[in-house]
Amino acid sequence: MLDLIPENPYILLTPGPLSTSKGVRAALLRDWCTWDADYNESIVQNIRRRLTALATKDVDNYTVVLMQGSGSFAVEACLGTVLPKDGKLLILTNGAYGDRMAEMASVLNIEHTKIDLGEVTAPTAQDLEKILESDPKLTHVAFVHCETTTGMLNPLEELSATVKRYGKTLIVDAMSSFGGIPMDISKLGIDYLVSSSNKCIQGVPGFGFVIAKRDELEKCAENARSLCMDLVGQWREMDKSGKWRYTSPTHVVRAFYQALDELETEGSIEARYSRYCENHRILVNGMRGIGFETLLPDNMQAPIITSFLYPNKEFDFKPFYEAVKSKGFVLYPGKISQADTFRIGNIGEVYPQDMERLIEIIAKNGELLGQTIV
Ligand SMILES: *Cc1c(COP(=O)(O)O)cnc(C)c1O
Repeated sequence: MLDLIPENPYILLTPGPLSTSKGVRAALLRDWCTWDADYNESIVQNIRRRLTALATKDVDNYTVVLMQGSGSFAVEACLGTVLPKDGKLLILTNGAYGDRMAEMASVLNIEHTKIDLGEVTAPTAQDLEKILESDPKLTHVAFVHCETTTGMLNPLEELSATVKRYGKTLIVDAMSSFGGIPMDISKLGIDYLVSSSNKCIQGVPGFGFVIAKRDELEKCAENARSLCMDLVGQWREMDKSGKWRYTSPTHVVRAFYQALDELETEGSIEARYSRYCENHRILVNGMRGIGFETLLPDNMQAPIITSFLYPNKEFDFKPFYEAVKSKGFVLYPGKISQADTFRIGNIGEVYPQDMERLIEIIAKNGELLGQTIV
């Protein structure tokens, strides 16, 4: 069966969608009806239970809502459902995904404060404490765990502890880290964690999910600012029978189930984290050996995606990208304003030997381009 699945022409070293396994792609190849237990119980409810167990040992106090669309849809559904009309949201941002949450809050008419730290600075517990002290109207705090814009790993533990000390509700966009970095959301005190099908669980794109503290979500029944993206409405239906309120992306959901099986076979999140760290180590050491420098210092860097500075003024990303792509790897342009960068992701169906091959190709790239990189 897997022999019939086409090879990918290149490996995606991007922040998602990612390269997926042949097993995941093969799982897309049949149809499902959405009104019986073969799908609703055996796949949807099973996925919800498994996601809860991946997020915490405290499974009874958490629940999962799946939401159609890309990851941003799930973030928007979460913000739009969780904030009461008289709530006020604090958003800490150091990149495009934090900024996007502030844009969502504006569109949804959610009262909010955005604290913008720029692109290469992480928020500290002290920063957060000062803001929470100065504005008692704040009810909720949101930030991004791994800010995929740069590859910054924000200090989840210390920020979460501070939010909890002040008794605020905590929303974390862990889109690009959940499934790839171990965490227990109950221990951290996270009330809502948002991620999606096509990041570290290594499924294909098509839905997002919110792992929510059950008694918090129960309070949000009157809040929704949208019919389709009402997290509580979706949850009530899904919790009963595994049915999504409106057409669910059946093939994508079935492929996600396969991706969860493969995550278990690999050795769950701990083992995946080790692989990603090893991929990342080979990538960064190799690139430094060639003469590239990372945007961020190592202590701020997540083992997910890395921003590299252009090595010199003559460096042209486009031909570099094309040359590396022709050898089987797709890189990613930079997304920040203050420096010329490009990004290389190391998550997905990507292994240390792939990263070694990439480094060899880039090392030879000066010759490929007819120019010296460094
Ligand atoms: C991928 C990602 C998202 C969601 O992006 P979509 O394009 O909507 O899937 C949100 N936040 C972070 C940090 C991400 O990496």
